[in-house]
Amino acid sequence: MAATTATTRTATVRSATVRFLGARGASELIRAHGVGPAITAIAGRIGNDYRRWDEFDKCARVPAHGPTGVIEVMPIADAGTWAFKYVNGHPGNAQAGLATVVAFGALARMADGRPYFIADLTLATALRTAATSALVARHLARPDARVMAMIGNGAQSEFQILAFAQLLGIRDYRLFDIDPAATARLRRNLARYGLDLQVCRSVAEACAGADIITTATADKTKAVVVDAGMVAPGTHLNAIGGDSPGKTELAADLVAACETWVEFTPQTRIEGEIQQLPATVPVNEIHRLLRGEQAGRRHRDAITLFDSVGFALEDFSVLHYLHDEASRRGLLTDIDLIPAMNDPRDLFGCLHPQRLDANAPERVASGIADAFTDAVELT
Ligand code: NAD
Repeated sequence: MAATTATTRTATVRSATVRFLGARGASELIRAHGVGPAITAIAGRIGNDYRRWDEFDKCARVPAHGPTGVIEVMPIADAGTWAFKYVNGHPGNAQAGLATVVAFGALARMADGRPYFIADLTLATALRTAATSALVARHLARPDARVMAMIGNGAQSEFQILAFAQLLGIRDYRLFDIDPAATARLRRNLARYGLDLQVCRSVAEACAGADIITTATADKTKAVVVDAGMVAPGTHLNAIGGDSPGKTELAADLVAACETWVEFTPQTRIEGEIQQLPATVPVNEIHRLLRGEQAGRRHRDAITLFDSVGFALEDFSVLHYLHDEASRRGLLTDIDLIPAMNDPRDLFGCLHPQRLDANAPERVASGIADAFTDAVELT
């Protein structure tokens, strides 16, 4: 017992510092790196992590559903690192001047449970979703795909388009949104990228002649935004907006006719387009595609579907990207997230404000804890 105390007293405990990247820092990082190179880098990390699929401790995300939307926590871990993302989805928020989706997340060391990085993930969610979409489409879209329909021109849409331009070389886009102002904003934002952005008057018009159809609409209902009659043989569907129970975008008979790929089957059965089909309908997981264990598009005329709902592994990858890139560029700051304790068992000592120093290492100097003689105010 005495030996344990001596060890505790003389050990140097690791720093309490947690590194932080806020929304402004994340934006500065992506501007400095460039959206295209950032998407390529994030796609590379996501691909590498999906190829390590068996090394991850995985579960379906944990949702809390309310009448206006959902808040979800998405945890995942490998042997070295634990990660989580907080994300919401509130389709009616725009009417109140709020984003539909915001997110933040953290990384922690498995070895000692210490969080070491916390970041805004709102921009990163759009980037990692788009990077995953394009990464998967490289295997599922026809090699001669030239035209993409972008249905739903909200917050995710520019990133989706830039990812398909960057990773598949798609230059021609056919845009539709029920809100013409959303489409106008998309065209303004992407005006300098040299893409052909054609405005359409309906979903059917946007889908006519499209090789790839991306749907990113937000409506808390079982919507039929795209039906089977709008989709030609050989099309790849990249459906990202149906990502919650009771929230879909594709007609059930269209989904049933597709060769469907998902991120993590237990989660997508609950949240994806396939929630409309019996749970016995077979689907394929994208880690097998990215590891080369399963072929992607098998027939020129097949209709392939990436039933994307967003999986924690993609956030694990993008959190590491943000941490490493922002660290390299000097964009991280320190935050006082956890107490810096002079004695790791003396949590009570934190009630002495003069003893709290988030920037100092938690150094256990023999006798310091015993020197806490001041009375602590309890009221
Ligand atoms: P947003 O609210 O910014 O944009 C949604 C757009 O869809 C709006 O412009 C709206 O007018 C339009 N829209 C709604 N119904 C439509 C319809 N029937 N036809 C055409 N347009 C329609 O939302 P966002 O942040 O762009 O997210 C879009 C969707 O993607 C949401 O449902 C969100 O939950 C989902 N999402 C999925 C992932 C994933 O990993 N799969 C990640 C992020 C967001």
